[in-house]
Amino acid sequence: KLHNTILELKGNIRVFCRVRPLLPDDGAAEGVAVSYPTSTESLGRGIDLIQNGQKYPFTFDKVFNPEASQQDVFVEISQLVQSALDGYKVCIFAYGQTGSGKTYTMMGRPEATDQKGLIPRSLEQIFQSSQSLQAQGWKYKMQASMLEIYNETIRDLLSTNRSIGSDPTRTESAVSGKQYTIKHDANGNTYVSDLTIVDVSTITEISSLLRLAAQSRSVGRTQMNEQSSRSHMVFTLRISGMNEGTEQQVQGVLNLIDLAGSERLSKSGATGDRLKETQAINKSLSCLSDVIFALAKKEDHVPFRNSKLTYLLQPCLGGDSKTLMFVNVSPDPSSLGESLCSLRFAARVN
Ligand code: ADP
Ligand code: MG
Repeated sequence: KLHNTILELKGNIRVFCRVRPLLPDDGAAEGVAVSYPTSTESLGRGIDLIQNGQKYPFTFDKVFNPEASQQDVFVEISQLVQSALDGYKVCIFAYGQTGSGKTYTMMGRPEATDQKGLIPRSLEQIFQSSQSLQAQGWKYKMQASMLEIYNETIRDLLSTNRSIGSDPTRTESAVSGKQYTIKHDANGNTYVSDLTIVDVSTITEISSLLRLAAQSRSVGRTQMNEQSSRSHMVFTLRISGMNEGTEQQVQGVLNLIDLAGSERLSKSGATGDRLKETQAINKSLSCLSDVIFALAKKEDHVPFRNSKLTYLLQPCLGGDSKTLMFVNVSPDPSSLGESLCSLRFAARVN
């Protein structure tokens, strides 16, 4: 709208695929491969999965190969991030099985400059732009929140006394009586009652937010947080801008979402909590796909209310909002079946 943000969008939904590098623990198998753009051409559009001579080709808006750096990825989304400052509502999702690189893409390793993910890079870019727009009379207020949806229950990731021990059912809400209910306000925005909102209008505030955020969602295979792989993480940055000269106002939202692992857990033997969890993940991921599909097809009825995630994000998914889905893929041959499922899911919403 403002500041001449130009985005070439095919509809309002784009899909990028990112293949992570092979890790030491990954297996080796004959006749199975993922083939992606070569290193000389780190950005392509096609990706093929090959199994026993059978080729499964897919095409996305962009495909990042394992050599693509965090910066290479950020460059491709920086305009989208920028549009939140111009008053757009933006959602960027990371979809894929556990271990495919979703958290690396979203959060990365914030302590290592070259491995920072989309969340720290977006915050920095928005901060810098807001500073330079001051010269044109713009004043911005930025507020962040971070929550997790686990078994259709919302948990506050920025609350300082969030979980009591390691028992996921004994959350702060159970102790404090906080409800974390999703509410739609008169302006058509959603908010979550009792959720911690932090100001991130200075570099110091941004750093302390990132420290908190990094603790709440760990990256790394060995220390992989079992629970975090089974919940959706939603990072939200609300930006209100006001021009002191022209009195123009903008209200943008940037949502960065690290989805629960999409792997199909074996149904046999899954009972009790584990079964409930699996069902909750499957249901909410398919609700998300139904919503995105309905929006892409411009259908009249969009089933936002079928899951907490889509209900929460409703104002940021419809209308003139912008959505980008990363489908993260592991090149581990033993993950081929899951990779195929992820690419099919992404191809459906694309
Ligand atoms: P997920 O969140 O999908 O479960 P992670 O982001 O935790 O997966 O990634 C699994 C492992 O792979 C981690 O050790 C992570 O550091 C590593 N990894 C993922 N993507 C990359 C990448 N593009 N470059 C280097 N290492 C990566
Ligand atoms: Mg993760």
